Amino acid sequence: EQDVAEYRKSLAIRVSGFDVPRPIKTFNDSGFSTQLMHAISKQGYEKPTSIQCQALPIVLSGRDIIGIAKTGSGKTASFVLPMIVHIMDQPELQKEEGPIGVICAPTRELAHQIYLETKKFAKSHGIRVSAVYGGMSKLDQFKELKAGCEIVIATPGRLIDMLKMKALTMLRATYLVLDEADRMFDLGFEPQIRSIVGQIRPDRQTLLFSATMPRKVEKLAREILTDPVRVTVGEVG
Ligand code: ADP
Ligand code: MG
Repeated sequence: EQDVAEYRKSLAIRVSGFDVPRPIKTFNDSGFSTQLMHAISKQGYEKPTSIQCQALPIVLSGRDIIGIAKTGSGKTASFVLPMIVHIMDQPELQKEEGPIGVICAPTRELAHQIYLETKKFAKSHGIRVSAVYGGMSKLDQFKELKAGCEIVIATPGRLIDMLKMKALTMLRATYLVLDEADRMFDLGFEPQIRSIVGQIRPDRQTLLFSATMPRKVEKLAREILTDPVRVTVGEVG
């Protein structure tokens, strides 16, 4: 335990919550498949970043998480890699419809970045990824969602539009990520986020990432996460 505390300190990580899994040192410690390890090394990722060292074992254990770390710390892979594992664990992947993983991001640029990062890992697993955000044809996005996907990455407003158009159902969604939650609140997306969360089964796994934790975001986190582990990297939060 002393070793674990020292190791967290060396990563500039603080955690709170009960039974927090110990941080990993290498991607191999995560028990990833050969296929996923191959995709990771293909990206040139040699070792996990601080947030990844602690977030990966937490998320892989099925726990909810609040991850607070500044931009550029590698938050995306800390939710994308466990999402690939989560999806590959589902029996009869192609038999039902609707995304299993739902990721909300504040802007089209961020949604697109997450899309690119997700594709790198999803492709070799035959997992279909769709991105929906403003500025693109709703009809095209409707058609793409209708064709089916396991992961959807969306800005909150456009996802609500697509749900209203019945382009997708969230009946199969069990892995929800709210990325850059503080920025989504700044942009006024709180009602849309609440609506989306309300349409996803309560026994889902929920991940919330943010650079800062204003009181409104803290309140949402308390309402929608179940026994989360909080991970703070560096001086933020
Ligand atoms: P954040 O979401 O925290 O702002 P990103 O997930 O966008 O950060 O990652 C920032 C950059 O670091 C990206 O270019 C990403 O490809 C790269 N990156 C992520 N994880 C690793 C890693 N383990 N090793 C090397 N580079 C990484
Ligand atoms: Mg990010």
